[in-house]
Amino acid sequence: MKINQITVWQLDLPLHKPYWLSGGRLKFEQLDSTLVRIDTDEGVSGWGEGCPWGVTYLPAFGKGIRAGIEELAPLLIGKDPRQADSINRVMDLALPGHPYVKSALDIACWDIAAKAAALPLCELLGAREPDPVPIASSVSTGTPQEMLDEVQRFRDLGYRVHSCKVGADVHQDIERINLLAANERAGEIIFYDVNRAWLPREAITVMNSVSGLTSWFEQPCETLDEIAQVRRQTSYPIGVDEGLHCFDDLVRIQRDGIAEVVNIKINRVGGLTRARRLRDFCLATGITMLIMDTGGTVVSDTGVAHFAQTIPAPFCQGVWSCQEMVSVDPAPGRGVRNVDGCFSAPDLNGLGVEPELSLLEGSPLSNRLNS
Ligand code: MG
Repeated sequence: MKINQITVWQLDLPLHKPYWLSGGRLKFEQLDSTLVRIDTDEGVSGWGEGCPWGVTYLPAFGKGIRAGIEELAPLLIGKDPRQADSINRVMDLALPGHPYVKSALDIACWDIAAKAAALPLCELLGAREPDPVPIASSVSTGTPQEMLDEVQRFRDLGYRVHSCKVGADVHQDIERINLLAANERAGEIIFYDVNRAWLPREAITVMNSVSGLTSWFEQPCETLDEIAQVRRQTSYPIGVDEGLHCFDDLVRIQRDGIAEVVNIKINRVGGLTRARRLRDFCLATGITMLIMDTGGTVVSDTGVAHFAQTIPAPFCQGVWSCQEMVSVDPAPGRGVRNVDGCFSAPDLNGLGVEPELSLLEGSPLSNRLNS
């Protein structure tokens, strides 16, 4: 089986409402997504999506994905998409770094491999764990009461895992966290995502001032060095999200005892091939995971659901559903959908979702590489 064509579509994804992160430091109103279809000489096609969370969240941007794919696509023509490690070596030799550029291509190759094997993607990736995977809500920074109201709104939709965004004024953060923690219900997980906003001094102050938490603080500071410093002077578990880019980061996190939880964002780490290596290291060393993408439509979410479904429940605390935050759905009625606050990977061969081409044709940019 050989790749004979790679097609790329750009798709704007306006958010339903503006979203603030990092204590209001970062504002987002629209995402720039890239959808990729890889065709083969045997008539099997695969889909992938790459969608950074705006341009300010990570060192990644939508135009960068398309420019990178333009570099890589000619080198993938003629290669067997079922050999994901080999495909990744070709991409890494041609374009060192830039993992977010490679993710959509990698996912599309896995979609093809699973279709060729007549297996749902999660099963080709190693397992289909029996329980649906809980979706973590995403509670934007606001007043303590606004955030509690938002948690309640998610509860009414069936969510039991909540990612509450903090990281502004120290006093306000303590008020936010204390109110949310006091209203946490049995069987619920409320964790506090700082998105790098605190300096170590601020993180140490807040984390030593709040009480009664049963969860963890996610990415309290910018760098792993800073988080290691916070670790030495606080006692709550810590999660690393934006600080995990590659295998070396994960090895350091484990070796130095920096965190007990990591977020594997498939687009950020470079696709499913790399995510799988990270997953296996976490399973071997007792690190808990959240599985997410950096953004995107139901196509991204479906890849996340398949990957998360391969992880035993105690190790996987949840996923995130970006599709509910964006106002565009290129695959209506298809792919993974929220059922009582959970995702279950589709029981179809491959990824199990393909966009409706008529909904992509009207996008501002549509080009075809290497037909
Ligand atoms: Mg986070």
